[in-house]
Amino acid sequence: MENLIILGTGCAGLTAGIYAARANLNPLIIEGSQPGGQLTTTSEVENFPGFPEGVDGYELMDRMRKQAERFGTRFKSDWIESVDFEGPVKKLSSGNTTYEAKSIIIATGASPKFLNVPGEQEMFGSKGVSTCATCDGAFYRDMEVVVIGGGDSACEEALFLTRFCSKVTLIHRREELRASPIMAERTLKHEKIEPIWNTIVEAMLPDEEGNVRAVKIRNIKDNTESEISCKGVFIAIGHTPNTNFAEGVLDLNPFGYIVPQGKSMVRTKYDGVFVAGDCSDPNYRQAVTAAGLGCQASLEAERWLFAQETI
Ligand SMILES: Cc1cc2nc3c(=O)[nH]c(=O)nc-3n(C[C@H](O)[C@H](O)[C@H](O)COP(=O)(O)OP(=O)(O)OC[C@H]3O[C@@H](n4cnc5c(N)ncnc54)[C@H](O)[C@@H]3O)c2cc1C
Repeated sequence: MENLIILGTGCAGLTAGIYAARANLNPLIIEGSQPGGQLTTTSEVENFPGFPEGVDGYELMDRMRKQAERFGTRFKSDWIESVDFEGPVKKLSSGNTTYEAKSIIIATGASPKFLNVPGEQEMFGSKGVSTCATCDGAFYRDMEVVVIGGGDSACEEALFLTRFCSKVTLIHRREELRASPIMAERTLKHEKIEPIWNTIVEAMLPDEEGNVRAVKIRNIKDNTESEISCKGVFIAIGHTPNTNFAEGVLDLNPFGYIVPQGKSMVRTKYDGVFVAGDCSDPNYRQAVTAAGLGCQASLEAERWLFAQETI
């Protein structure tokens, strides 16, 4: 039986691995279908401390992985489908294999939702399509951008982008925003934000170099089609936390995020089972916050194992 199994190799899982390995817990990380997590899908990370010139997302995650390996973290490529946390032996099952451990850190992240329209995936990451204004907004200084969505996050993204961009067009498929009244009012009052109602994006259109030049839209009331020129497209229609395996086992909020217990940000209702990163954090969803939670979860796991006198 393992001391500690960590699920996920994003910023949270790998940071947990570094701390646990340095504490001699000999952790095993199960890395899932996206080794390195979400950050491997972006080329430029400018807000992770320690990299004043910025760093490629893939390179950053590769470095974190090497750092975890250096202290003895072991990796296994597998996908966990179900869990059983009753009793002292925690069980994780991938269908073919059952893993057993004294303690677990769940760091399975979240996946941004996409529209699934032409051009979206081709230009996602570094060619103008983004799911994170905090991460990428500063790349669009004095440019015109489009935000797609109508909830609180879409309003937050749009308002944040007004700090850099010359114009923000907010495209929403309904006639009014779903966001809270205060957020909606602030958004609609902003001089740089122009809402476009009852409209869906049908395609994202590239320029000759393959970067975003416009979005093709359709008004769903009268079916008219047109284009809006823009340099950036921010999709703000939500995230799906990767927590299917925890349904009916852990407490999930209505959107599927694991809800930490008590004052701790990393404990769950099961002793010895901890959570870290975007799978339990609907608010911040940043590399550095995920890494911070991975650190906390690892320290908590270490203390918990020590208190059981099993290490
Ligand atoms: C395009 C893009 C650009 C971004 N840019 C920035 C930026 O510039 N700055 C910034 O701070 N943040 C940025 N972010 C956000 C940042 O990537 C996330 O906040 C961070 O990666 C969250 O880390 P995590 O470890 O919680 O989860 P993730 O990175 O989502 O990793 C989850 C891990 O869990 C694994 N996994 C999932 N399900 C299972 C399962 N059932 N079994 C086993 N393993 C599983 C996956 O394979 C993956 O390894 C960006 C995100 C995207 C998508």
